[in-house]
Amino acid sequence: MTIKIGVIGTGAIGRDHARRINQVLAGGKIVALSDVNRASAEAVKADIAPDAVIYATGEELIASKDVDAVLVTSWGTTHEQYVLAAIAAGKPCFCEKPLATTADGARRIVDAEVAFGRRLVQVGFMRRYDAGYVALKEAVRSRTGAPILVHAAHRNPAVPEAYITPMAIHDTLIHEIDVLRWLLDDDYVSARVLYPRNAARSHSKLRDPQVVVLETKKGVLIDVEIFVNCHYGYDIQCEVVGEDGIARLPEPMAIQMRLGAKLQNDILTDWKDRFVAAYDVELQDFLKAAAMGTASGPSSWDGYVAAITSDACVAAQDSNGSPVPITMSDRPALYS
Ligand code: NAP
Repeated sequence: MTIKIGVIGTGAIGRDHARRINQVLAGGKIVALSDVNRASAEAVKADIAPDAVIYATGEELIASKDVDAVLVTSWGTTHEQYVLAAIAAGKPCFCEKPLATTADGARRIVDAEVAFGRRLVQVGFMRRYDAGYVALKEAVRSRTGAPILVHAAHRNPAVPEAYITPMAIHDTLIHEIDVLRWLLDDDYVSARVLYPRNAARSHSKLRDPQVVVLETKKGVLIDVEIFVNCHYGYDIQCEVVGEDGIARLPEPMAIQMRLGAKLQNDILTDWKDRFVAAYDVELQDFLKAAAMGTASGPSSWDGYVAAITSDACVAAQDSNGSPVPITMSDRPALYS
């Protein structure tokens, strides 16, 4: 069975996901495109999806009888309206993070999906599909003993001047927020943010680096260093300290060099290269579930929890190191 897919938002990641579906993965075909920038949709049609129809609006694309399932890869502020329209149409929907830009918006999506009565939404938290994180989760389940501490780091070589302090949470930490609660099978209860002195390469509207400390319901303490102008590379680190041992996220594959009297491994510099295989696996998972009229993987509930946690972390950025509580209602049975 081939699922007929419409893509709303044909910028960087929309184009890349369209390429995956038409050129790499099995079971899907791009039949529809929409973007406020029509030239962008036309370019994707020309380069990747010659049979696709271009729709003037995302809503028209979702309503089309020729579209079975939808990818929402437009700007974050537009995700909620399209995901709600896809749920109303009963169509499976893959939504890039964030599910919505407010916790209230994410909650509206959860409520709409619960009222519909079947999962239709997968959120683009691709790290859950990364082979390294999958292996780390298995090690935590079967070898480290109960987790006590997590030390993590998310480092980017550089960000533009437009990247300001709260973006370290909404755009960067958001991936750790999702993957660490999945890794530990736990939920957060509070967030703190601590700052060392600003790094010399930081900008006027950016505190960099910063350390976010999350506490979980099971009493695990997590520290995440976010350092977005670290200069040396794109580097994702994660170490879980358990009762019986310690497990670390494996490094991405790299050639080891003996050169100039040094033993060296290159470090990636572009985030797109770090999780390239995980993007393939997450979208294949989406296609598989969509063929059965449903969705799996990271859910609307996970998107909602990420939004609530992000809001608490942003509040914690201005709370002088005091913890900000993270509270949420009970998880609906649809997501158990
Ligand atoms: P991008 O290159 O700016 O592409 C977004 C596209 O959506 C642009 O062509 C934009 O047009 C278009 N657009 C804006 N509003 C729209 C609307 N109402 N309806 C239809 N199209 C609209 O951004 P991107 O980097 O691809 O990011 C897109 C989303 O993916 C963001 O939410 C981002 O956080 C997420 N993302 C996730 C990952 C990940 O690792 N999972 C990685 C990258 C991005 P104009 O430019 O003309 O406004």
